[in-house]
Amino acid sequence: MAGVIPLGAIGGGSAIADGMPAPGGRDYFKELGLKRFINAAGAYSAFGGARMRPEVVDAMRFAATHKVKMRELHDAVGARIASLAGSESAMVTSGATASIVLGTAACMTLGDEEKMRQLPDTTGMKNEVIIQKKHRYTYDRSLTVAGAKLIEVESEQDVRRLVGDRTAMIFFLKPTQKGDDIPAEAYLRFARELGVPSFCDAATTTPPAVNVVQGVGEGFDLICYSGGKGLRGPYSAGLLLGREDLIRYARRHSAPNDLSIGRGMKVSAEEYLGMLVAFETGLRITEADDFAYKLNRFNTISDMLADVPGVVTQSFVSEGHANELYLDIDWDSDVVNLSKAALMQALREHDPVVEVRAFFFSGDRIHLSATVMDEGEDEIVGSIIRKILLAHS
Ligand SMILES: *Cc1c(COP(=O)(O)O)cnc(C)c1O
Repeated sequence: MAGVIPLGAIGGGSAIADGMPAPGGRDYFKELGLKRFINAAGAYSAFGGARMRPEVVDAMRFAATHKVKMRELHDAVGARIASLAGSESAMVTSGATASIVLGTAACMTLGDEEKMRQLPDTTGMKNEVIIQKKHRYTYDRSLTVAGAKLIEVESEQDVRRLVGDRTAMIFFLKPTQKGDDIPAEAYLRFARELGVPSFCDAATTTPPAVNVVQGVGEGFDLICYSGGKGLRGPYSAGLLLGREDLIRYARRHSAPNDLSIGRGMKVSAEEYLGMLVAFETGLRITEADDFAYKLNRFNTISDMLADVPGVVTQSFVSEGHANELYLDIDWDSDVVNLSKAALMQALREHDPVVEVRAFFFSGDRIHLSATVMDEGEDEIVGSIIRKILLAHS
C-alpha cells in the first residue's frame, strides 16, 4: 500500500478518534479490506449520498429492533409526513426515481386492479405523459418504466393540441438547466382545465427541508423528492406527496403488494421511519443553521492552511438552485509546486482517502463541500491537505 500515511502522523488526534469505530467494536470495512474515505465532494450518489443526522440513525436502529406491521407503519408515517408538508397524502418510496415510476403507474391505472396487473403492457389505458422538450433529462427513463410514452411539447399550443384521451399525466421538472417553455403556473392551469393529473419532480430542491412544504403548496397533484440527497434521509429513500387517491394507487403499485409493478421497490421499516425523522429534523433546521455548520467546517480547514505559503482559501455560494456553499483552495504555483490534479490524486492515494470536487475543464479549480462532512472530519481534511501542500513548498 504505497502512499499510505498512518493516521497518527497527521495530527488532530481527538478528531480522528471520533471518526473511528467504537473501542472494541468491529471495523467491518477494514475487515473487508476497504479504505475509508472522507467525502469533501458533496452528496453524490456514487459516494453514498447524504450524511444522515444522528436522529435518523437512532430512528433506523429503533425500527430494526421493534416490529410493527408494514401497512400500519406506512399509514401512520404517510399521515405524519403529509401533515408536516401540508399535503393531502404522502408515502415513502425507494427514491425519487421510484416515486416517478409509481406516480406514473398510478396515473395510468387509477386504481383499476386489472390494469395494474397488466403493466407495463398499457393496452386499453391512458399511457401518454406530456413533457416539455426542455425538461428531458437523465431520469425521464423512470417515466417510461411502467409503459408510458413521452409526448414532447414546446409551447402552450402544443399542450392544447397534444393533450387528449390518451394523456395519463402532465410532467414538470424543477429546476431545469435549460429553463421552461411553459412556466409551472401555466402548466398547472392546463392540467386542471383539461382534467389531467400533474406531476412535479422536485428531487433536488432541498435543503432546506421546508422547500418541500413550499413545493407541495404549488398545487401539483403529485410531487416527489429524493430522500438521500438534501433531505439527508436514508440513501435509498424518497418521498411522493399529493392527492389522496393518487397516493393510494401509487402505494398499491409497490411493496408489500404482490402483482404490482413496483414490488421490487421495497422500502424497509428502517427507511420508512428514518425518512420521517430526516424530514422532521430537517424542518427544525434553517438554511442559516445549515450554512453556519458548513462555514464552521471551512473555517477549520482555512485556519489550518493559513500559514502555508502561497495558499489562498475562499468560501463561496454556487450559482443555481441548490445554493451550495463551497470552499475554493488555490495556490501560487511558483510557491507550491503541485498541480490541482496532482493534489486530487494525492488525496485519493491517502488513507483515509479524501474526495474533493475538481473542475479541471473550467479553470483548474479544487472545491470542497461540507454537505457530507462530519464534525471532526474538517480537521482531518485540513491536516491532510496541509501536509501534502507543505511537502511541495
Ligand atoms: C437525483 C435525482 C433523481 C433520482 O433520485 P433518487 O432518490 O436517487 O432516485 C430524480 N430526479 C432528479 C432531478 C434528481 O436530481
